[in-house]
Amino acid sequence: MPDLYYFDCNATTPMGAAAREAWLEANDRHWANPSSLYREAGLAKQELDRWREELADRLGLEEPERIVFTSGATEANNAVIRYFLDTGRKRIAYSAIEHPCVDAAVKQWGDSEQVREIPVHSDTGVVDLAPLRDWIGDGEIDAVSVMAANNETGALQPWREVAALCREQGIPFHSDAAQWIGKMESGDFDGVDWITGSAHKFEGGKGCGFLVISEEELDRFHGLIGGPQEDGRRAGTENLPAVAGMVTALMGRSDEDLSDIAGVQSQRRDHFEAQVRDALGVRLLGDGGARLWNTSMFVLPHTRNAKWVSRLSQRGFAVSTGSACSSGRGNPSRVMAAMGLDYDEMGRVLRISGEWETPAAHWEALAGALVEIEKELQGQ
Ligand code: PLP
Repeated sequence: MPDLYYFDCNATTPMGAAAREAWLEANDRHWANPSSLYREAGLAKQELDRWREELADRLGLEEPERIVFTSGATEANNAVIRYFLDTGRKRIAYSAIEHPCVDAAVKQWGDSEQVREIPVHSDTGVVDLAPLRDWIGDGEIDAVSVMAANNETGALQPWREVAALCREQGIPFHSDAAQWIGKMESGDFDGVDWITGSAHKFEGGKGCGFLVISEEELDRFHGLIGGPQEDGRRAGTENLPAVAGMVTALMGRSDEDLSDIAGVQSQRRDHFEAQVRDALGVRLLGDGGARLWNTSMFVLPHTRNAKWVSRLSQRGFAVSTGSACSSGRGNPSRVMAAMGLDYDEMGRVLRISGEWETPAAHWEALAGALVEIEKELQGQ
């Protein structure tokens, strides 16, 4: 029996072995400041740019200069929303299920009269393109932000369609791909203007991520705070070891590997879901559409989710009540609200998010533990 059955990958993942090696090596060999002028610093700068090229290649981007390294997806998302607003793109359309950091950036700096929330279909948790098409057609939108995959339900979003729609109309499009990159095939991002990624969502270590900048705005883009690094696009001494860890982790799984993993893991997840649906009568969320292969979210039949999480934890299982950011604050999740759950149902939601190699036996063990806990709770 493992010490921990880990089913909270959408919150974070442990750093992978190869990423850790690359992180240690960069710390030992390339600790110099890439902005300094001596030889070692030059080598660190070269190394940083080499990782940038590898990442660009992995994402199918033609221009590595489009990538700036950040402290994570929160920073990247804030930077792009702030930049849209600073450059007069005030009529931002963003989905009702965006991560809380996108919502907070829009609410903090945007004008509530001008921004628009794109609704989702309640059965699938997928963005409804019809209103977005109408708004864009009527010339009412200056910029669009729609995530690639939702962190709570795992629902895959139509980011390729939105990218094409925005491109046709010359509207900048941002996609927060923090949950997609590292889990799904990621080699075709060239058609998206602005992209966000986060290392700790794919075993690449915490405190590192990236923003891909629109080709057309490369010379114009300015970062959130002042400073010369990354050509003035992201201030602060570059975290080369973290970048090395991040890109190594991402390169460790090709698109073919990810497609194989998706096939195996989604079957295990589906079997798990069938078991808990039959035994407990849970209501699955977003299962009407395509989802990340590792994610399952459902409404429990009774008793607040915190109690289930705590009983699972006592048995060695780590699961979540929803997005770590929302659940920590006790605010109702925007995603659940957008999918039409009432307050009581929101308090009974569990999110399960497995790893790339979660064995079938661990999925079985989790289903078994849920059935046991249900009996315990019923007996109270
Ligand atoms: N965007 C999405 C979709 C996420 O799931 C998360 C993490 O929960 C973030 C952004 C924030 O990422 P980071 O922890 O790198 O700031």
